[in-house]
Formats: sequence, structure tokens, C-alpha cells
Amino acid sequence: MIPLRSNIAGMKGYIPGFQPKEPDYIKLNTNENPYPPSPAVIEAIRAEAGESLRRYPDPSSRLAREEAGRLYGFDPDWIIMANGSDELLNNLIRAFAGEGEEIAYIHPSYSYYATLAEIQGARIRTFGLTPDFRIDGLPERYTGKLFFLTTPNAPLGFSFPLPFIGELATRCDGMLVVDEAYADFADGTALDLVRSHENLVVTRTLSKSYSLAGMRLGLAIARPQVIAALDKIRDHYHLDRLAQVAAVAALHDQEYFRECVRKIRETREWFSTELRAMGYQTIPSEANFVFVSPPDRDGGRIYEGLFGRKILVRYFTDPLLSHGLRISIGSRLEMEATLTALREIG
Ligand SMILES: *Cc1c(COP(=O)(O)O)cnc(C)c1O
Repeated sequence: MIPLRSNIAGMKGYIPGFQPKEPDYIKLNTNENPYPPSPAVIEAIRAEAGESLRRYPDPSSRLAREEAGRLYGFDPDWIIMANGSDELLNNLIRAFAGEGEEIAYIHPSYSYYATLAEIQGARIRTFGLTPDFRIDGLPERYTGKLFFLTTPNAPLGFSFPLPFIGELATRCDGMLVVDEAYADFADGTALDLVRSHENLVVTRTLSKSYSLAGMRLGLAIARPQVIAALDKIRDHYHLDRLAQVAAVAALHDQEYFRECVRKIRETREWFSTELRAMGYQTIPSEANFVFVSPPDRDGGRIYEGLFGRKILVRYFTDPLLSHGLRISIGSRLEMEATLTALREIG
């Protein structure tokens, strides 16, 4: 017997979306961006890929934090960079939830929170959604250590209204983590609430809206005391030199970024309208994916049909979600091919 901690031995582990080896799939299953990163990012990585790699990177990612600070309107000591926003979610649990203490999240949302809590030996509580997408059974005070709110929600795509998020923060004894992985595709952001609520953290990722899933870049914005705590427990050289220059260049090239986001939002609205005309139900989305269900509410059948045509989307066997599919928004051409396939499948 290997002497594992019992919570690790009992864990199933998170299963990421399928990443096919063959390049001939239309890949709409992990919410990646169909457009390449900004040319400025590629240039910055090229320029950094040389002799300097012999030296350790800046442990505080200062230039990236300054760039993010200018963009979002916060001092750099309110910002921490991360090796993907997953790193932040992990370190938030490590910083705020001890063994046996409770964290909460909405089901359905991002199930990785549960995996991270299990590693820490924290207890997990989930809240469901009401039919109008509010939290079901939320107590007057939530006394757990962390509440993870994914907004826009994944996999459903709707956003919680800002007043609701502010009220949730005041009802949490612990930290409210607003996971804004998809906020760049939405109309609103909870960033301003960070100033008015000391227990609120917003996490962001460059994986989706900045086309940098392969670079592993995220960031969080919170009070300096919260940022200082997260700084204490992270790996000191968590962001390599290439990631740091990529972050600076990506956040700086707002013109390119805005154009990519605009195209994705436009394609999302067009694709959703086409699907509704085919009798699909869609949830109005503020993200770079849509959750859709076919008239016969058999998501698995459509998933198989698309898979057979080399189109990958995300199907969840969870009974709350098996009536539909989460389809990432790709390029216009990819979505046209998807619509054609869906018409064939019927
Ligand atoms: C993609 C995603 C993340 C992880 O982002 P990375 O920066 O790639 O680690 C976190 N939360 C949600 C809800 C996501 O969809």
C-alpha cells in the first residue's frame, strides 16, 4: 500500500475536455478562441526566446501586473498574475479553506472547484439554480470559507446581475470568488465590486478571450491583503519569461482583442438565432459558447452525430445537463459547418 492521504486516495481527479491528437476536428469542446493570439504576442515571445532564458523570471510579474492595472484601473498591488486562473482557484482554497472547512459553488458550474477542495480536504457544498437562474436555497448568511460564483456561468452562459453579486458578497462570512473566465464576452463585470466589498475576489483568464489557452495565464483582482496572502503561498517563479511577455503584449493590444471579442459575440448571436429557427432551445449567452438543446432533448444523440462528422462539442452526462450540449463559438465557417451537420443529424 502506498501511504497516500485518504482524501487523495478517494479522489477521482478532474477530467479535462478531450484534446484530440489529429488536427482534422472542428474543435468546439473547450471554449478556446478560434482566432490566433495578437501578432504582438508572437513577436514578444520570439524576442524573449533567447539568451535571457538562462535567468530566472521576475518573481512578481511586475510588468504584467502594471499592464493589467492600467487596463482595469487598479494599482498593481491589487493584482496577482497566475499560471492559468486554475492556479488562483487552487491557491484561494489553500489560503482560505483548511481541512474539514467548507467551500461552496453552484451546480452546474465549473466542477474543478470540487477537485481542488478534495485535495485540500475541504468539505463541499453545492447550491442549485432556480428556473430564473438565481441560487436555490441560499441561506441568509453563508458561513463557509469560500463561495465560488462562475459568472457568466459555465456551461449555461447566463450572467448573474451585479446587484445580486454584491448582495451575495454581503451575505458571505468568507470570501466570494467571482470566476469571470468569460466576462470579456459579457456586457458587465464585477470588477468594481472589488472596491466596495473586501471579501470579493475576481479571477480572469487569458485562455479564452485572449486566445492564450496554451500559454497558461490568468489573474486575480482583490484587496492588497488578499493579494499578499495569495503571493505568499504561490510558487515564487510560477510565470516563466515567455508567459510574462505574452501577458504584457496581449493585455496591451486592446484593438486586436476587441475585434476578436466582437467577432465571437456576433457569431454567437447569429448561430443562436439559426439554432432557434431549427427548433433548438438556447439559453441567451454572455460567453464564448452556447448551451443548446435539440427538440428531442437528447444531447447524447447529437453529440455522437457531430463526433462522427469530426465536430467536437461538450456533452455532460449529468441529468441536469444531458438534454443539451455546450458548443464553443468558433469561426463563422466552423459554425456554418456545425449547422450543416446538425441539419443532417436532424
Ligand atoms: C476555462 C476556465 C477556467 C480556467 O482558466 P485557465 O486560465 O485556463 O486555467 C476557470 N474557470 C472557468 C469557469 C473556466 O471556464
